[in-house]
Amino acid sequence: MDGMTSRPSPTAAPSGDAARPSDIQPAGRKVLLAAPRGYCAGVDRAVIAVEKALEQYGAPVYVRHEIVHNKYVVKTLEKKGAIFVERTEEVPPGNIVMFSAHGVAPVVHEEAKQGRLATIDATCPLVTKVHKEAVRYANEDYDILLIGHEGHEEVIGTSGEAPDHIQLVDGPGDVDKVEVRDPSKIVWLSQTTLSVDETMETVDALKEKFPQLISPPSDDICYATQNRQLAVKQMGAEADLVIVVGSRNSSNSKRLVEVAKLAGAREAYLVDFASEIDEAWLEGVTTVGVTSGASVPEVLVEQVLEWLAERGYGDVEIVKAAEESITFSLPKELRRDLRAEAKAATEDTDA
Ligand code: SF4
Repeated sequence: MDGMTSRPSPTAAPSGDAARPSDIQPAGRKVLLAAPRGYCAGVDRAVIAVEKALEQYGAPVYVRHEIVHNKYVVKTLEKKGAIFVERTEEVPPGNIVMFSAHGVAPVVHEEAKQGRLATIDATCPLVTKVHKEAVRYANEDYDILLIGHEGHEEVIGTSGEAPDHIQLVDGPGDVDKVEVRDPSKIVWLSQTTLSVDETMETVDALKEKFPQLISPPSDDICYATQNRQLAVKQMGAEADLVIVVGSRNSSNSKRLVEVAKLAGAREAYLVDFASEIDEAWLEGVTTVGVTSGASVPEVLVEQVLEWLAERGYGDVEIVKAAEESITFSLPKELRRDLRAEAKAATEDTDA
């Protein structure tokens, strides 16, 4: 493809990378394009779940909280008939409410029941895994130190699984104030979208204070967060400027900006759209790194690449850090109804 190359890598470039304009480019200027970037399996599933629910039940379908933290995705789904609400009580009785990929506390399921609402749970299975860990350790009467960002929906949902056992640790600065009942019976868990390095700093500080602290059975920071950070680390070291496509309320996108700067990028910025890029950022810049958060559709990255190509950054080199092939099946409520619909259609045809 014109202007786009891959670094020697054991695998081919990801599909869906569109060709860039083949204008003659000023020598030396290039874009390093991170791979993987953009949609993770949990976001893909949640967005498809809203679309399928709209097809299946018709508009409106209510969604509690932004289905994923991305302005463009939310606006697109609103146009198709989704209505986003912040509280369950905002949904009129008898309607369908979908829970977002970030997960909800059990009390929210109860509110939906009280409000006579049908529910579809689009919580990412990797968030559900953390919920289950929290419930298991709470049942065994552990004190659970949940590393995460205060006020983030995922943290609110996980904390709600065992409010009497969980305390939030929002970074290494919070460690001093942590108090536990029994220092020999504590475990740490984490939000799925944190910076891997910063989380380990917090864990180290916690372990210094509580040497018997145990770790979760497997990583809570999900594969998508880890892979996107790994790719940014690789390209950030070489880029003068890194542009991360993502919304300001997207935790994993914000972490990519931080990771890029720590990796050595002179500057790193978060933008929702290409139109938010400031020409002044390009002053003295030879290499621009581009990536996107886990809730960002590829079309927004393509627009950024076009914007850069128009300004002489048309050579695109892919920096590939990992292969991803994970997919999740649709929420069970939708699978059940979709199956019923398919069966009814078959019966109609057979009759
Ligand atoms: S970022 Fe990770 S935890 Fe969050 S939806 Fe995507 S795969 Fe799931």
